[in-house]
Order: sequence, then structure tokens, then C-alpha cells
Amino acid sequence: MTVTRFAPSPTGRLHVGNLRPALLNWLYSRAQGGQFILRIDDTDAERSKEEHVDAIKRDLDWLGLGWDRFERQSARLDRYDSAADDLRAQGRLYPAYETATELDLRRKYQRQAGRPPVYDRAALKLTDEDRSRLEAEGRRPHWRFRLDQERVTWTDGIRGETNVDCASVSDPVLIREDGGYLYTLCSVCDDIDFGVTDVIRGEDHVTNTATQIQIFDALGGKPTGFAHHSLLVDADGAGLSKRLGSLTLESIRDSGVEPLALLSYMARLGSSDPVEPRASHEELIAGFDLSRFGRAPARFSTDDLNSMNLKALHGKPYADVADRLRGAGVPEDIAEPFWLLIRENIDGLEDIPDWVAVLTGDCEPAIDAEDAEYVTMALAELEKSKPWTGETWRAVTGTLKEETGRKGKALFMPLRKALTGRSNGPDMAALLPLLRR
Ligand code: GLU
Repeated sequence: MTVTRFAPSPTGRLHVGNLRPALLNWLYSRAQGGQFILRIDDTDAERSKEEHVDAIKRDLDWLGLGWDRFERQSARLDRYDSAADDLRAQGRLYPAYETATELDLRRKYQRQAGRPPVYDRAALKLTDEDRSRLEAEGRRPHWRFRLDQERVTWTDGIRGETNVDCASVSDPVLIREDGGYLYTLCSVCDDIDFGVTDVIRGEDHVTNTATQIQIFDALGGKPTGFAHHSLLVDADGAGLSKRLGSLTLESIRDSGVEPLALLSYMARLGSSDPVEPRASHEELIAGFDLSRFGRAPARFSTDDLNSMNLKALHGKPYADVADRLRGAGVPEDIAEPFWLLIRENIDGLEDIPDWVAVLTGDCEPAIDAEDAEYVTMALAELEKSKPWTGETWRAVTGTLKEETGRKGKALFMPLRKALTGRSNGPDMAALLPLLRR
């Protein structure tokens, strides 16, 4: 069975950049009838916050991206202890004592000498005496995974044949000086234990993947499948990282974007399939194909998202808004035709009350002075024609045309403005029978 996971670190709110792996993993598992795990990568105790965990769940709930299993790394430290022991026993995990400043300086020299800034494994040459001396000085070790310096190859679900030469990669730190575990190790343990079959994540993880494949092998696990999606850029091609703080899912929700509009947009961004509004999660799943995604950066535009939102709103089925209409005081018997009539005339669900005011007559009529007499006469004519039906508008405007000689816009517009308070809106012939005044 296909098992995927979304593994955010709860160090901040989710933003559109995080939504990409969340959605792709969700769609991939749902499309295969598989399982989707929400895993909280919270081994960084200082930066991880419970309020962010709650917000992550709230965001996924809002989007309807349900999970079948919930896990958190902070609850699995025993497992990581035993994995670390296993790696130590194999000579794959070694203590290193350099400080961050020392490492920085060393990288600077390497760059100046035209060499890649790869960790030189000086710690591997330390003798037992060296280590005792360093520890007596009060230094605590961090622990690095000794990479096999060979090329690691995999068939990436998006990038195709991919390889990384681990000879040019620094041995990754798996345990910090304070004993805290880094995600690189924990994630492999979790993926093995939870039976994860496929990992879809950003291309900033490509090098991690090579090192993690070696960790899978060292721990006797079968590496998952990997697919690395491109990262989001803005319309000018610049990275989004600086703007991401303002593109949180919370702020997008608060700006009135509908979940399915956001999902429809994000599900196709960076793929060769057209961006189209989808009316349900089932439709999204049916239209999903990972092989359509490519390596080119995905251009995220708030304008495109907003226009998707409008499209989704203008095609929104009645059932989705029935409760909202009831709450806004729309009589049950006309709620559906009312919605189908106004949905293309609104910019957001928050506009509904304005149209309810048109129904009940609580809107301010707009009457130009030069039309006042005509409008008075027209309204009297309408009053006589009650009850209003689908034919009334034609009949009344026909009579008015004959009596006043007005035609076209001069005939219709003053009446529209008097009845709705605005100069554009839905078909008056269809609106008239719904008015309750
Ligand atoms: N916590 C990691 C991140 O947010 C997860 C990466 C992964 O999917 O393996 O980058």
C-alpha cells in the first residue's frame, strides 16, 4: 500500500511553500487508495511550539486534507537512541568537536583556496587522548554520519534519473552538541517504521536524499521512493522565501480565498496540466498525475490565485452555500435560484448580505433626478403587476416602452438602479420574481 507523509517542523505557520508537499503527498496517496501520515518534526525543542502544531492541524482541516495517522518525533527519542547506537557500532557515527566558528573559518579557507567547502573529517583523525583532552576542556561532541564517498543514484518521481556524488557532500550532523537529534536521522527511522513508501518534497532536499539513502542502507531499511518538486518563485522568477511570511495559509484564508480554489491552483502549479477550478476533492484526486510535474520553478501569483478564487466562486454549487444563505436570512424556497442568479455577480461570499438587502428591499435605491418621474411611474406599473413571475419584467417594460417612448438602456437602467441600488447585476427578469417586498 502506498504510504506518504507530510512532515512539517512546527516552528512557524504553514505557508504556500509548505502547502506544495502537503498537497502533493496527500493527492498521491489518495489517488492510490493509500495512507497519508501527518508527522510533526519537532526534535528542535527550542524552536518547536505547540501553538504551531495546532495551527498546522487547523490549516489542513480547513483545506480538507485529512490524515490517517498522526505522529510526532519528540515522542520517539528512544528509537533514535537505538538507531544512533546501531550506527556507532558500525563506525558510521563519529564524534566531532569543532565549534560553529571554527567550521565557518575552515570553509572560508577552503573557498579561498578554490576547494569545495566540504567537511574535512578532521575529527576522524582524533585519538582517544585528543578526545579526552577536548572533553576535559569542556567541549561536547556533535555526531556526524560517515558517508560512503560514492555516487548515490535514484529514479526521482519528478526529476527522473538523479545522482549525487557523496564525495562532495559533508558528513551530515545527526546529533547536536546538546544531544538533540536532527531530522535527517529521525526521518529515516520514521519512514522505515511507519512503512512510508514515497516521499515527495522540495528540491532543496536533493542532497539530503542522497545522505538519507545511505542512512536507510546502514539501518537495514529499504529507501522510500523520492520525488522532488521545484520551489515556488514569484511572477518575476525571484524566490518567494522573503514573501512567504505574508503568504501563510491563515492569511490566505482570512483574505476570503476558498479552500478548493487554493487547492485547485496549487495542485496544478508547476505541472504541465492547465490550472482549472475543481469542485471537489474527488475531482482534484482524479485529475492528479505526478508525472506531469517538472523541474521548472513554479510561478506563484496572488493575482492568479484570486482569479481562480473568483472562478470557483462563480461556479459554486448551491449545496456548498445553502447554510450560509439560510444564515443570511434568504427564504428557503428561493435560496437556490437566488444563489444561481447572484453567484456570478459577487467577488466573495461576504457580498451575499448586499444581495439579500436587494431581496428584502433594504438596499438604498439609486434614482437620478431626471429619471424620478419615470421611475415613479414604472414602479406603479410593477406594483399593479403583482404577483411577479418570470414574465413580469418583459410585460411591464413593454408597456413602459409604449407609454414613454423610452427604449434600451434608458428604459431598463433606471428601473434596475431603483430596485437594486446599482447599475449592474443579474438578469432582472429572473431576479424580479424573487424579490420579497
Ligand atoms: N521537516 C522537514 C521539512 O520541513 C521534512 C522534509 C521531508 O519531507 O523529509 O523540511
